Amino acid sequence: MDVWGNILSSMSSRLDPSTLKLLKGVEKAEYRDGELYISTPDPVYKDWLESNLLEEIKNSATNLFGENLKVYILSEEKDADFDDEELIKEKIQKAEKKPYRLTNLNPKYIFSNFIVGNCNKIAYSACMSVAENLGKIYNPLFIYGGIGLGKTHLLHATAHYVISKQPGANIIYTTADTFMSELIYYMQNGSVLEFRRRYRDVDLLLIDDVQFLEGKERTQIELYHIFNALHLIGKQVILSSDTPPRNLRGVQERLKSRFASGLVVEIKAPDLQTKVSIINRKCLDLNLKIPKDVAILIAKTIKTNIRELEGSLSRLKAHADIMGRPVTLDMAREILKDILEINEVEEMSIEKIQKEVAAYFGVNLNDLLGNSRKKKITTARQVAMYLSRYMTDRSLLEISKAFKKKDHTTVINAVDRVKKNMEKDRKFKLTVEFLKEKIMSV
Ligand code: ADP
Ligand code: MG
Repeated sequence: MDVWGNILSSMSSRLDPSTLKLLKGVEKAEYRDGELYISTPDPVYKDWLESNLLEEIKNSATNLFGENLKVYILSEEKDADFDDEELIKEKIQKAEKKPYRLTNLNPKYIFSNFIVGNCNKIAYSACMSVAENLGKIYNPLFIYGGIGLGKTHLLHATAHYVISKQPGANIIYTTADTFMSELIYYMQNGSVLEFRRRYRDVDLLLIDDVQFLEGKERTQIELYHIFNALHLIGKQVILSSDTPPRNLRGVQERLKSRFASGLVVEIKAPDLQTKVSIINRKCLDLNLKIPKDVAILIAKTIKTNIRELEGSLSRLKAHADIMGRPVTLDMAREILKDILEINEVEEMSIEKIQKEVAAYFGVNLNDLLGNSRKKKITTARQVAMYLSRYMTDRSLLEISKAFKKKDHTTVINAVDRVKKNMEKDRKFKLTVEFLKEKIMSV
């Protein structure tokens, strides 16, 4: 008796046609002494079956073979190519539940909230031009750069932009990882042709993180053919990776050379100014107010990863809200202590302050540390003392020593004088604040 055929026909009225089609993947079923063994071609299929249809199969088989039936689903050894079975299973299940096209774009990743600086200007403009001229100028566009530098943001932004201009456009955004899981899924169901059709039918294909193609031979072959087909008819491809095409490991030469055949652009680590602009922008979004010195502290602490930068701001926001107090430099230092420690932000030194202040006022360092009473020099000296008091953890005594003064009353007087002047004289206040920021950012 064809055991599986019988089970299938008894389930058929309750299942939709696409599931029934998938169930053809089962190789055979054997019944022995109250136990039913179902053989499947591989672990991914086995997992899919177990998590979706075990109950259904059990019920139907119980009708055929009687109560207390035990059902076992078996599979061949797993394919060496695919290491993380759990992950693939999860992805396949997710992929099944949603329609394919573009349910996976983050609505927050758009051009208008992408902060442009020297580090990402070229990548940004390239995406913009491509979005405006699909398939016409840079094809493919290959963007590479380190973690958290905005590659995914730009890819999503490009897709959003194209959708807004051409609502009917066929767009697929995927990651190399998902691309692979999908391919397996289609292979499993004997419909690789369907997979190809899906991918060859697009106006814009965006594949994120192609470094994950490493060592995935079968997936690379498939991508190579899809790429060629799209390229031939002028459809746009955009790729991202953490390295330039030539450095992709475990990727076929012919694919690498295709990747590099259009425009290859790098997103670099943001400079301090760009980081500060990003922080300001995120603060607006978070409805969080932070003083400038806090923005600079965070920008200096977090070397490159913009995602970490966002994380710090969310933490500040949560604390400020809970404590009902505005964010201050001290508060930020306390809350972000762990990050500050890991990143070992160099401690502010009195020497640095003296050097910068002297340079700003155009006085030389010896004069700053000397006893001259010239107006320009005393002002510079007082400002340097004031900043040393507030920007370092040094005691009054230490500060007075660093300024070659015998006792610390000079420092106290200088700090007082600067405070008073700042209250009276707006321009002077701005100068002091400017200097503070400048010193923090060198
Ligand atoms: P990648 O894909 O390069 O690892 P993402 O695109 O995921 O990085 O970016 C990480 C986070 O930083 C995202 O939340 C993104 O919105 C944000 N981000 C990155 N670059 C910028 C930028 N220039 N302006 C605003 N936000 C940015
Ligand atoms: Mg990314």
